[in-house]
Amino acid sequence: DAKANATGSMRFFAQRMGEQVRRRLILERDLREALERKQLHLHFQPKVDLNTWRVLGFEALLRWNHPEHGDIPPAEFIPVAEEAGLILAIGEWAMLEACVHAARWPEELQVAVNISPVQVMAQNLPDAVQNALRVSGLAAHRLELEITESVFINETRGTVGRLHALRRLGVAIALDDFGTGYSSLACLRRFPFDTLKIDRAFVRELLVSRDARAIVRNILALAKALRMSTVAEGVEEPAQVKVLEAEGCDIVQGYYVAKPLPADQVLHFAMTWTGRDRPTLPRDFSLG
Ligand code: C2E
Ligand code: MG
Ligand code: MG
Ligand code: MG
Repeated sequence: DAKANATGSMRFFAQRMGEQVRRRLILERDLREALERKQLHLHFQPKVDLNTWRVLGFEALLRWNHPEHGDIPPAEFIPVAEEAGLILAIGEWAMLEACVHAARWPEELQVAVNISPVQVMAQNLPDAVQNALRVSGLAAHRLELEITESVFINETRGTVGRLHALRRLGVAIALDDFGTGYSSLACLRRFPFDTLKIDRAFVRELLVSRDARAIVRNILALAKALRMSTVAEGVEEPAQVKVLEAEGCDIVQGYYVAKPLPADQVLHFAMTWTGRDRPTLPRDFSLG
């Protein structure tokens, strides 16, 4: 009967909850050691200039290879790291690691590093970045930091000042996942970002939804008016490249160009990319 059913599903729910809580505890425990045991590493995903079709640089993305549970996605372990107070150490490591790699690349290639809002709230972020640049020898103008608008949710007096301090070091700052949160437009007034990354959600709908295309067109116009360069994330199909080109987007990133690559494949990718795979579409293809 219904009551027994409800009890049963409650029990099932409790079990599931228990499993989730347990997995989280395990991840937190193991994450503390993952850094020392060298289970964390970076992959690098290229960004391509839509005008010249050249590789501009790579975004560093954290990977965790857990000895028992295999690869754990950052969407799962970054929040754990943030809550457990581990993100500062992990973030500092990722920053230095990314800079050390990039310092070995040809000089025209840049590197982008994702920064957690927790790191932006920490007072020492500009020092940590300066330290990574000094230790690696990477020129500041080759480093870009990607932050999301959630940085502004708990905005403290220091937040915007720290972003300006980073800018003064000579690094560029990108607003990541633009358009997904509640206050994207307000963020653009709080801080003058160098780059705006249009979230994958809009790119995914680009070919099927007039609304998505209208939104992208207007985001691009807004970015241009505010003198920001624009990156489209999650580009998977040649027709998306064509539409983004037609709409005046500057840079594309996504599986169409390449998935995130292990560090030892970056140079080979950059050297062999030139001019490759620029999409062409049939003459009668309509961009809508
Ligand atoms: P993000 O910074 O927006 O990175 C883009 C994510 O989309 C990456 O997932 C990337 O692998 C994925 N992606 C790129 N192109 C495509 C595509 O064409 N199709 C699809 N379906 N996916 C694509 P990933 O590596 O799992 O990272 C997820 C998020 O985790 C990142 O989103 C970022 O917010 C966070 N993250 C990753 N590394 C770091 C890090 O070092 N520090 C911090 N704080 N966050 C990180
Ligand atoms: Mg990013
Ligand atoms: Mg993003
Ligand atoms: Mg994203």
